Amino acid sequence: MLQGDPNQFAIVTFDPGGTIGWARLILDARAFSRPEHKVLRWLLSWDCGEFSGQEEAQLEQGVALIRATRLNGVFNRHTDVVGEDFELTQLIGGENLLSPVRINAVLNWECHKQGLKYVLQKRQMRKSVTPERLNLFGFKGKWRTSGKGKDAFAAMQHAVVWSRRIKKLSQSRPWKLSDGIASNAYWDCACEEIDSYGRGQCDMSHPRS
Ligand SMILES: [Zn+2]
Repeated sequence: MLQGDPNQFAIVTFDPGGTIGWARLILDARAFSRPEHKVLRWLLSWDCGEFSGQEEAQLEQGVALIRATRLNGVFNRHTDVVGEDFELTQLIGGENLLSPVRINAVLNWECHKQGLKYVLQKRQMRKSVTPERLNLFGFKGKWRTSGKGKDAFAAMQHAVVWSRRIKKLSQSRPWKLSDGIASNAYWDCACEEIDSYGRGQCDMSHPRS
């Protein structure tokens, strides 16, 4: 992987609860710079897991993951942090019932301090990403929907869903490459090339700026 490449985009997701599941995708921003680019073709790396220990210890690991992901050499990676939204769907949960609420609050505050947005995504949105589909996409693993591993799986589901949502948004508004830095951002097109009539040869629909 290129160190310090400003054109990297990271997605960090959390499935908060008694055990915090986490996942991280690191993508080349070209996944979103042209509508026809397939997201997974531009996947640089991925990993996922579950934190262990007391809630505070798990949160420390979560905060460390966000920081380590955002800082990439001398550049900051464009990083989206996503957590599963809390839904009061069950009334039996004991002292851990509200732990997702506490975890989301801490991660939200950490993101705020780092100038990142903590986005909440509904549980329902991840249901379409089955273990079979994850494997088909190239995320090879023994994905578990219950017991140990289910929280890492949930975080992976959220990561895939978020990447799709970002891709959808980029269809009508492709990303400028190097958008995470202040200068030298450019469209991934032939805009800059001028033909013999003095016209730009843009082959892509994007905002004129
Ligand atoms: Zn153009």
